[in-house]
Amino acid sequence: MSKKILIVGGVAGGATSATRLRRLDETASIIMFERGPYVSFANCGLPYHIGEVIKERSNLVVTTKEALWNRYRIDVRTETEVIAVHPESKEVTVRAKDGSEYKESYDELILSPGAMPLTPPIPGINHELVKSLRNIPDMDKIKEIVDGGAKSCAVIGGGFIGIEVAENLIHRGLNVTLIEAAPHILAPLDTEISMICEKEMRDNGIELIINDGVKSFTEISGGIRTETASGRQIDADFVVAAIGVRPDTAFLKESGIELNPRGYIKVNERMATSADHIWAAGDAVETFDSVTGGAATIALAGPANRQARIIADNIMGINRTYKGSQGTSILQIFDLVAASTGNNERQLRQKGIDYRAYFVHPMNHATYYPGAMQLTAKILVDPQGKLLGAQAVGYEGVDKFIDVLAAVLWMKGDVNDLADLDLAYAPPFLSAKSPANMAGFTAQNDLEGLVKSRTFLQFESEYNKETDLIIDVREEVEFEQHALPGAINIPLNSLRERLGEIPAGKRLWTYCSIGLRGYTANRILTQHGFEAFNLAGGTRLLALGTVEETHTGGHKGKQDVMTTHEDGTQVLPEEHVQAAAEAVMAAAEPVRVIEVDACGLSCPGPLMKMKENMDKINPGEVLHIRASDPGFYEDVKAWARRTGTEVLSLSKAKGFVDVQLKKAASLEECILPVDPTCQQPSKNKTLVVFSGDLDKAIASFIIANGAAAMGGKVTMFFTFWGINVLRKSTPVSVQKNFIESLFGRMMPRGAGKLGLSKMNMAGMGPAMIKKIMKDKNVDSLESLMMTAQKNGVELVACQMSMDLLGLKLEELIDGVKVGGVGYYLGDAEESAVNLFI
Ligand SMILES: Cc1cc2nc3c(=O)[nH]c(=O)nc-3n(C[C@H](O)[C@H](O)[C@H](O)COP(=O)(O)OP(=O)(O)OC[C@H]3O[C@@H](n4cnc5c(N)ncnc54)[C@H](O)[C@@H]3O)c2cc1C
Repeated sequence: MSKKILIVGGVAGGATSATRLRRLDETASIIMFERGPYVSFANCGLPYHIGEVIKERSNLVVTTKEALWNRYRIDVRTETEVIAVHPESKEVTVRAKDGSEYKESYDELILSPGAMPLTPPIPGINHELVKSLRNIPDMDKIKEIVDGGAKSCAVIGGGFIGIEVAENLIHRGLNVTLIEAAPHILAPLDTEISMICEKEMRDNGIELIINDGVKSFTEISGGIRTETASGRQIDADFVVAAIGVRPDTAFLKESGIELNPRGYIKVNERMATSADHIWAAGDAVETFDSVTGGAATIALAGPANRQARIIADNIMGINRTYKGSQGTSILQIFDLVAASTGNNERQLRQKGIDYRAYFVHPMNHATYYPGAMQLTAKILVDPQGKLLGAQAVGYEGVDKFIDVLAAVLWMKGDVNDLADLDLAYAPPFLSAKSPANMAGFTAQNDLEGLVKSRTFLQFESEYNKETDLIIDVREEVEFEQHALPGAINIPLNSLRERLGEIPAGKRLWTYCSIGLRGYTANRILTQHGFEAFNLAGGTRLLALGTVEETHTGGHKGKQDVMTTHEDGTQVLPEEHVQAAAEAVMAAAEPVRVIEVDACGLSCPGPLMKMKENMDKINPGEVLHIRASDPGFYEDVKAWARRTGTEVLSLSKAKGFVDVQLKKAASLEECILPVDPTCQQPSKNKTLVVFSGDLDKAIASFIIANGAAAMGGKVTMFFTFWGINVLRKSTPVSVQKNFIESLFGRMMPRGAGKLGLSKMNMAGMGPAMIKKIMKDKNVDSLESLMMTAQKNGVELVACQMSMDLLGLKLEELIDGVKVGGVGYYLGDAEESAVNLFI
């Protein structure tokens, strides 16, 4: 007798079950209920249509209910919701589009209702300007806002959907702030890998706020304000909340089908629920982790599709079981790709599983073949070497690496399997020692006792200043850029000759940039009787995410003066390029540009090649170097700053770093260190802004922005009336006494309310000046201030003046520091220019 099969949910799981059932049985009666207007649409493509990467909306609708009837004779009922399930009578209650309700009986029932966005009880979360993205109507609403000219968006949540939405809004030219409550974005990845992704996002213009949850959403004029737990306020035209998902299973509450405490449907390995003849697949089910065996809820399309196929097979008498999920996932972040499979360190620690972590930074293919790109990969194994998880990040080759690792993990492989893997190699495709092999070799070396590897986390807890010594075995030029505090520099090639310099009895920590030279040094040292650990992954892990924090030169915070273009290319500001162009034009001879290809070289290769060529070229000539090593972007900036070399252009696109450096034409142009202690002449500038007049404030910020563009730290110290420039335009409720409140009301509230020092004419003067500035295309004071903050200009409010005027920090714009005269004098002492305005 033919079976009557009902399916709840018509997208990934539902549609897969339906078509597989029909292919297995021509006689079955198949009815598929879908609450929304579309079936089988590509939810994974939704963010990309908002960004107009996928141009045609119709491409997202993989099939229609008419097509499903014509080809498969599947009765698709859209805009129809199953509101209850009655296992005892083998029926479901259905609510049709017109609101009427009816019952439908079944022989077999498949549930694939998916998940819906989490809406935690945050005040204002139900405001109409707070959107979420789950289906085509959601996408249409967001796209309509963007097409309507929205300028800014706050995205809540640094998971896959949040990041994809943020990136696509950047493609559409919006200012995007992404807020993540956890210390780092992308929960499936460990901190080091997430930080590389965070850097890519920031480099591409996303303002990233991490470790700061959302406290409330409030409507403001023309938009919505998001306030975070730390008190930051982000004003935007709209918000996209992508905080996470929960199973869409409310309709099952009274059914008696077993759900876990979070509402996920419990299934066995055949994907059968606790009720007879009811099956479930997809985002709404709790399955198990194929690596460690515990319960797992995985909201990914691959598992949903495979589970749905297994259900169809089981219904039709083909006995099949689901072997669990290992959560293999991948994400593109602008040009960068990040991926993971299996468990990460956090999960392993939570489960109490002992593990070892190893890092490698291999090239995606032979280094000598053009276009080689480095990736960063991490594997996690148990003490016997069995693979538990892997992660990778880079511009090319990440997808191949993670799929190979996912396959080995699936087959319960270990580090020896990785070392032995026989993969297809020719120079354009891979290296003879593939990234997977390299990961295996590295882990083998440690597990077999050839080297003692430690992660940076372990270093932090195990390093003892009194008994240990850190040896940086990189070249001098690398050490000068940044080094671990307290490290001494003995380049690997001179280590054997300089062994005598290492005090006996010290426990040693070796490191290099990617771990390989550190490993070789470690082998030399241990064979000479020293106890030594090697820092796995090297400083590359730090440099890609946190170079400023480990800088020996004390340059904390960015002095980045780059502008991000639409295509993601970053360049120096127009005036820099202009100045460089003028200098070139002024030269009597046409300037020779020497091209150097450093692609495929890993750190310190590009830096060494650059230095070698800079030494060779003549004063006034330009060196254009292209590298595929992502760390070179920061390295070259730091090197140029330290040596006073002019950077004519610096860009990063599609994983390539391009830089043009001009060798100083004369001694006057050269600002190399001059005194015996090798201190560079300071490029820092300090401005004291005493005046609260509009014209003087404009002048101050024009000078500050110019100074920031020339490099060096720029500090603006606002004192007395100058502090009014920094006030927020809207009142902030803070505790004040009578005089303070009076002062607060009498003084101008922020940049928009300042008067002119001359010709103020009861407010007409400022209005006229603003109009003239607009006509002449001069930035307003507000936008000059934003530019200054973006370019790293430090805004410091004088503590004493704030006390005198009764102003509180909450009343000042975000990003302002409060400091005393000591702070100012400290900065002034290190500055070449000091202005009082
Ligand atoms: C924006 C976005 C991007 C994504 N990107 C990726 C990606 O790149 N890679 C990846 O692996 N995964 C991605 N996913 C996740 C992936 O889409 C899901 O894991 C997958 O669709 C789950 O399939 P499912 O059948 O369980 O649920 P869904 O495909 O969500 O289908 C469930 C359907 O059931 C309907 N429904 C629910 N309850 C009822 C009811 N009572 N009656 C009738 N109908 C009902 C819902 O309307 C919904 O359409 C993405 C998801 C989104 C939203």
